[in-house]
Amino acid sequence: MRVDVISIFPEYLAPLDLSLIGKARRSGLLDLHVHDLRTFTHDRHRTVDDTPYGGGAGMVMKPEPWGEALDHVADQEDSRPILIVPGPGGARLDQSLARQLAAADWLVFACGRYEGIDERVYDYAQSTYDVRVISLGDYVLNGGEVAALAIIEAVARLVPGVIGNAASLFEESHEDGLLEYPIYTKPEQWQGFSVPDVLLSGDHGRIAQWRHQQRLDRTAARRPDLLPPELAGAPEDLVVGV
Ligand code: SAM
Repeated sequence: MRVDVISIFPEYLAPLDLSLIGKARRSGLLDLHVHDLRTFTHDRHRTVDDTPYGGGAGMVMKPEPWGEALDHVADQEDSRPILIVPGPGGARLDQSLARQLAAADWLVFACGRYEGIDERVYDYAQSTYDVRVISLGDYVLNGGEVAALAIIEAVARLVPGVIGNAASLFEESHEDGLLEYPIYTKPEQWQGFSVPDVLLSGDHGRIAQWRHQQRLDRTAARRPDLLPPELAGAPEDLVVGV
């Protein structure tokens, strides 16, 4: 998968060299490029923002550097990339959207700052990109870089080969709508807390049943909105079964 990120703070993307994403980069599974938006300015101050038409607080990112940057990136390959513009007004990122994006060959991220990017850039980009606005959640960040990092990590770990043990991906929270069961490792006793007996029993059927029940209970307690309608609000003894 190819990934390009355009930002006025390319240093913000340095964590993409670390851990599993860094390894995927080095092995060639991820072809990742970070571009400095200011490279596409032509004035002495490398200006990327200006005051908003119609008045109001804050500054708006100018269309010209964005237009040039997007043309430059799109020219790198023949195919039509997905352009992800992180923004609080976009579709909320979830596991199913991450899976969809993981099937793409090429993602480009346009990281906004200030009050955001001049609206005409979204229209202009449609001719070369499949444009998507994606939000991390209902709160406001200072810029799109943190969102780009989160989206890249959520997506890249689903690209075959990026995570060593692919089976682990399917047992995680949000893969089938439920949260993950509680997990434990050695030692058996720690600070007066014990590992649940069932996990030491060696009885795989009982362990699977216990884990499934834990997933239902945990989802009901922490994220009841995720429970399928037939289980939402069901009395506890009905939330059973493997
Ligand atoms: N004026 C914008 C609004 O009210 O929708 C918010 C601008 S915000 C201060 C600056 C940039 O941070 C946005 O252009 C976007 O790139 C990023 N951003 C802020 N909140 C975000 C969120 N919840 N998800 C993704 N990106 C976000």
